[in-house]
Amino acid sequence: MPLYEYLCEECDTRFERLRPLNAIDDPASCPDGHPAGQRIISIFSAVSKDSSGEPKVTTGGCGGCGGGCTGCACSSN
Ligand SMILES: [Zn+2]
Repeated sequence: MPLYEYLCEECDTRFERLRPLNAIDDPASCPDGHPAGQRIISIFSAVSKDSSGEPKVTTGGCGGCGGGCTGCACSSN
């Protein structure tokens, strides 16, 4: 299952969720329990990750599929 990044507009927290493809645009609860986190587009999140220095997510990809999912940059590596 692919890993997607979400942003909570209530507390401005970014967090990640494993989601099936048919649920990626559904609101996700943030770690603080706010129910309406919105998915961040992968290219946008990759830039944010790089600038914040977090090593977990690789270039433009979801960082969690190892190249096995479609629609993320991991699959082109
Ligand atoms: Zn929140």
